[in-house]
Amino acid sequence: MKGHKIYARFASPENKCIDACLSSEQKMYKIFVQGIVQGVGFRPYIYRKAKEHTLVGSVKNIGNGVEIIINDRDFIQKLTDLPPLAKISNYSVKEIKSKKHFSDFSILKSSVSKGETELPADIFMCDDCLRELRDEENRRHDYYFITCTNCGPRFTMIKDYPYDRPFTSMHQFKMCPQCKREYTNPLDRRYHAQTIACKKCGPKLRLLNDKKDISGKSDTETIGKAIDLIKSGEVLSIKGVGGFHSCSLCDDGNVGKVREMFHRLHKPYAIMVKDIEMVEKIAYVSEKEKELLQSPQRPIVVLKKKKKDVFKTTSELDTIGVMLPYTALHYLLFDYINEPLLMTSCNIPGEPVSIIENMGTYFLTHERRIVNRCDDSVLKVIHDTTFFLRRSRGYTPISIMLPVECQDTVAVGTELNNIICTTKKNKCYLSQYIGDTSKYETYNFLKDTVMKFIYLTRLKPQIIACDLHPSYNSTMFAKELATMYDAKLIQIQHHQAHVASAAAEHKITDYMGIAMDGLGYGDDGKLWGGEIFSVRKGNAFTRIGHLEEQPQLGGDSATIYPKKMLFGILSKILTEKELLKLRLFDEKESRLYLQILHNNFNVQHTTSTGRVLDAVSALLGFCEKRTYDGRPAMILESMATTPLEFEPVFSQEQGKTILMTTPLFDYLLRNKEEKGKLAATAQMYIAKGLFEIAKKALTKKDMPIVFSGGVAYNRMISGFMLQQGVLVNRELPAGDGSICYGQAYLANMNNM
Ligand SMILES: [Zn+2]
Ligand SMILES: [Zn+2]
Repeated sequence: MKGHKIYARFASPENKCIDACLSSEQKMYKIFVQGIVQGVGFRPYIYRKAKEHTLVGSVKNIGNGVEIIINDRDFIQKLTDLPPLAKISNYSVKEIKSKKHFSDFSILKSSVSKGETELPADIFMCDDCLRELRDEENRRHDYYFITCTNCGPRFTMIKDYPYDRPFTSMHQFKMCPQCKREYTNPLDRRYHAQTIACKKCGPKLRLLNDKKDISGKSDTETIGKAIDLIKSGEVLSIKGVGGFHSCSLCDDGNVGKVREMFHRLHKPYAIMVKDIEMVEKIAYVSEKEKELLQSPQRPIVVLKKKKKDVFKTTSELDTIGVMLPYTALHYLLFDYINEPLLMTSCNIPGEPVSIIENMGTYFLTHERRIVNRCDDSVLKVIHDTTFFLRRSRGYTPISIMLPVECQDTVAVGTELNNIICTTKKNKCYLSQYIGDTSKYETYNFLKDTVMKFIYLTRLKPQIIACDLHPSYNSTMFAKELATMYDAKLIQIQHHQAHVASAAAEHKITDYMGIAMDGLGYGDDGKLWGGEIFSVRKGNAFTRIGHLEEQPQLGGDSATIYPKKMLFGILSKILTEKELLKLRLFDEKESRLYLQILHNNFNVQHTTSTGRVLDAVSALLGFCEKRTYDGRPAMILESMATTPLEFEPVFSQEQGKTILMTTPLFDYLLRNKEEKGKLAATAQMYIAKGLFEIAKKALTKKDMPIVFSGGVAYNRMISGFMLQQGVLVNRELPAGDGSICYGQAYLANMNNM
C-alpha cells in the first residue's frame, strides 16, 4: 500500500446540499461518492473506517458510484488514507429521513442504476499477494491466479457494471467455501474481491501442444514444463491479462522464429525482465523510468540500450521496450529462468491481439475468458516528460477530464494507431488501443469497441465526431452511427484535433499549435503533416504556417518506399543527368521515377514531417523500406548524434510562413560530415524551424505553444520543444491515439 499516494486524491464537494430541519432521533446522511470507487476495495475500506469511528449505517455500490448512509455529516473528511487505487472525483452529502433504525454498519448488495460509471483498469499483482505467493504455508502459495481487492485484472474481464462477480468472466468459477468465507468477510483483504480464486476453485493452468493437453500434475510442474520448452527453443503463446503474448528466449534464432510466425521483419519487440537489476544490465533507467516500470499499471517503457548492438534482432533501434512481471504467472516463470524473455502481443501485424488459442504451437493457457482484449501500454520518457506511445492496459477505461461540458459524444478517431472515445459531460472515456483500422479485423474491433463503450457508459449519442478524410473506415462507420442514433455528424481536421487534444489537456484556448506527423487530410484536400495554427477561443483555427510542399511519388507507396519521396525532393535540386548519376538509386528506378514526375501521374503534394524525415533516412542510407509504422524516421532518430549549425530557411506564401525543406536536402547532399551528425541536423532543422514560426506569430509574449502528433515521440525534436517551454500531451498519446479526444472536444465546441 506504499508509494501509491497519487491515486488517493480528493476533489472538493460538488453540490454539497444539506437538507436541514429534519426531526428524527437518528440523524443520517446520504453521501454519494463518484470516482474510481468500484473494484478497488472501497466498500470494505468504508466499512473499516465506520467501525473505527463507531458509526452506523451502510454502504453499497450503485451503478455510477458508491452510496454511504451514515450518522456523520463529515465522514468523508475522515477518509484520509484511501486504498491504493481508489480515487474520489466528487461527492455530495444530504441529510435523509430514515425509517430504519441503524445499530450497526453493514455492506449492502449492489444495485443497478443508470448513470456515469468509472470502471476499474487492470493492475499488477500487489505486494501482499506477492508475499502470499512466496509463502509456503499460504494456501495460495505458487497459485498463478492470486489476486485481491487491491490488484489483478479488471477491465479485461468486465461484461457490465456495477463491478460485481456476476458481470465478470470470473462468474463461471464457483467459489469454494474457504474463498467464500474470505469474500464475505468485510475485514478480509479479499472481501468482495471479484477475482478471488484459489487452487481448488479458480482457473486451472494448462499447457497445450496444439490441442493436446501436456500439462504437469500441478501448476508448478506445468510452469516448469513450459519454461523447459522455451529453453529448448520453442515459442510459447501465453495467455495474459488482455491477450496472448508470444514468448521466447531473446537470442537471434528464437526472435527470428517469432518474426517468421508473424511476418514481422523488423518491428521492435518488447521484453519482460525479472526485476530492475536485470533492466539495469541492459538499458539506462532514470528515476522517472523506474517509477513507471514499477507502477501498478506496469507498462512497457522504451529505454535507451546501454549497447546498441545487444538485443539487435529484438530491436534494431538504440532503444528497447521493457516491462516487469505483472501477474503471478510472470513471477513464477522467472523462478525458472534468469534471463529476459521476449514478450510480444500475439497478433498478425495490424490486427488486434489474439485472445484465443489460435496462433502458435504451444499454449500456456487457462479457462478464464478475456472479455475485453487489451494490449500492453507503451511509454517513453523524453526530457523528464512521459509520453504515451500506446495508452491501453492499466489505464483503460479510466476517464480523462475535458475542460468543457460535452454532450453524449462518440469520437471514432482516425485510421492508424487508433483509439476511440465516448464523452459524458466533462469526462472522456478512452478505449484500449485498437490499431490500424484499414485492416478488416481491426475495423471490426473498432466497431465492437464503439458499441461496447456506448453500452458501458450508458451513452445516448448526440454527436458523432470523426476525421475529415472521406475514405477512412472510421469516417464511414461514423456516418452509419450518426444515422443509427439520429445524431449530429461533425468532421474534424486531423491536425486541428492533434493540437486541440494537447491544448484541452492543459485547459488553454488561445495558443499556437504545432502538429507534426505522418499525414492527415487537410482542409484543402491535400496531405498535411507539418502544420502551425493560431488558435483562438479553443476552436477558431488559422493555418499560419507549414512545411514546404514536397512531391510524393506514387501516392501512398512513397510511405513504404522512402526513396520515392527522396527522389521527388532531389528532383528540385538536381538535373536529370545528376539524378541518374546519383548512386542512391539504380538507373531503372531513376528512369521510372522521372517518368512519374514528367507525366505528373500519381504525384501528390504533402507538407508531412514524417515523409521528410523518411526521405532524410533514405538519403543517409539508413532505411529503404518501411516495414513497420514510422520505421525510417525511428532509425534516423536512433542514428542521430550532434547537430551541425544550419539555420532554417523560410519563405512567405499567401500570408503563411513556410519552412523550406529543399535547402535542407541540398545541405545534407553536399555535406561530407558523418551521418549521425547529419541525421541530427535534419531533426533539429525541422524542430527549430517550426518552433520559430510559432514563436514569431505569438501576439502576446506569454501565449502558450503546444505540440502534438506522432513526431513528438522523437527524442531530439520533443526534447528541443520541451526546453523551449512548449506544452505536450500529458495523459493522452501524442500520436493518433489522441485524435478521438481532440475530435470530441472540438465537435462539442463547434456545436455550442
Ligand atoms: Zn493483491
Ligand atoms: Zn477457492
